[in-house]
Amino acid sequence: MDPWTYAPAPESASLAEVAPSYRPFVDGAFVDGGGEPLKTVNPATEEVLAEVGTASPQDVDRAVAAARRAYEKTWGPMSGAERAKYLFRIARVLAERSRELAVLETLDNGKPIRESRDVDVPTAAAHLFHHAGWADKLAFAGLGPDPRPLGVVGAVIPWNFPLLMAVWKIAPALATGNTIVLKPAETTPLTALVLAEIAAEAGLPAGVLNVLPGAGDVGSAVAGHSDVDKVAFTGSTDVGKEIGRRLAGTGRRLTLELGGKAANIVYDDAPLDQAVEGVVDGIFFNQGHVCCAGSRLLVQESIAEEFGELLRARIETLRVGDPLDKNTDVGAINSRVQLDRIVDMAAAGDAEGAVRWTSSCPLPERGLFFPPTVFTGVEQSMRVAREEIFGPVLSVLTFRTPTEAVAKANNTPYGLSAGIWTDKGSKALWTAQRVRAGVVWINTFNRFDPTAPFGGYRESGFGREGGRIGLDAYLHV
Ligand code: NDP
Repeated sequence: MDPWTYAPAPESASLAEVAPSYRPFVDGAFVDGGGEPLKTVNPATEEVLAEVGTASPQDVDRAVAAARRAYEKTWGPMSGAERAKYLFRIARVLAERSRELAVLETLDNGKPIRESRDVDVPTAAAHLFHHAGWADKLAFAGLGPDPRPLGVVGAVIPWNFPLLMAVWKIAPALATGNTIVLKPAETTPLTALVLAEIAAEAGLPAGVLNVLPGAGDVGSAVAGHSDVDKVAFTGSTDVGKEIGRRLAGTGRRLTLELGGKAANIVYDDAPLDQAVEGVVDGIFFNQGHVCCAGSRLLVQESIAEEFGELLRARIETLRVGDPLDKNTDVGAINSRVQLDRIVDMAAAGDAEGAVRWTSSCPLPERGLFFPPTVFTGVEQSMRVAREEIFGPVLSVLTFRTPTEAVAKANNTPYGLSAGIWTDKGSKALWTAQRVRAGVVWINTFNRFDPTAPFGGYRESGFGREGGRIGLDAYLHV
């Protein structure tokens, strides 16, 4: 046997303690939902993990009414210091159950255990701790002397970071004194329901947090409910626009965190090995199912060939396969629908004349997988340069001057994130000032921190999540 091959290092699936069935969480208890139950699938095997009860329109009404009662009677009148105790408690229990949650997230979503263990779960705990710290200091957040909660928040989240996105909504909503009704994605409802269990274990008063699994119709009912004061949505630009149209003129508050097509700009003076790591992380982290993924590499023409070689050599070393294996770099695509979308988008790249390169890594025989893929010879007009693929597919464009790099980076309807790689600080800052993106990383990529606001420009949405300024979206100031 080749002494340099990896031995399998699988984490045990039994750590997740997956139950045969799960139910919606309304008014402090798990209840039978009136909707048609759904089956959630492990995308790495396509086997059913569990049956999940879903919410009917009446359940949505009940959950919103419970959230309203809790807002008026318990959570709203409670002092910030008291609210903080609950959030700290939830954060601690979440951290204690981190191994179970990481395995459950990997089973339900398909992401590598290394990512759920090292990124999703710890970042979720960090967001809870961060916001718990704000709960009694809102008057000192610089947002006004007497910030007040909005009321009931309706949150709808996607499947790419199920637990983390749930916490991104719940933590600021609760810290600022609001109550919440959360709709997780249809294909990844499990960790949000375990989070509800954790909240109950932490003694969170009934109705403060409600979790309603279901499909888009449940999301639509939550977002459109007339007694919801604020909607926080993360997902596709199309659905975001639809929600925006429905809320227009109602006076109800809205934040939208939508798609992206981020440019990762590599100048010829960049530390190339470091930039290769950042570009690989930017697009292959979480199978490329990341709204801020660096899906367009803009590389300076003079180093394009050398950089391409280094990049391909590095991508060849990525291991695609069993998400529970601790050696896996790229896991399973979350759903058959998403896999079909990626296949179609890659075919569009071929049809438009881009040159496809695919890693030769072996793919598992079963399950939903797509190999790391790079398109070169990409023109700005091509679909692979313009549309969000949301998969492990990188489009490479070149530029000659910083001005051209900025023009190409901004030639997109989106504006969520960008990366800049250069040895020269003044060039990095010059570029960062001109790139129209909510988050700009310099000589790094995909850094997430609860103290740093995150959000987009243009079709990537509006409003910021995280940081001091993220509190503003949940307050009358
Ligand atoms: P969606 O925007 O459809 O899903 C996000 C959430 O909204 C899910 O909980 C979904 O429910 C719910 N939803 C669906 N329709 C409605 C509606 N009419 N009103 C209110 N809520 C609704 O994204 P998809 O999962 O369909 O992904 C499609 C594409 O969107 C991806 O290929 C990717 O390009 C992009 N995307 C971007 C994300 C980002 O973070 N920027 C995240 C996810 C997707 P359900 O799960 O049942 O569909």
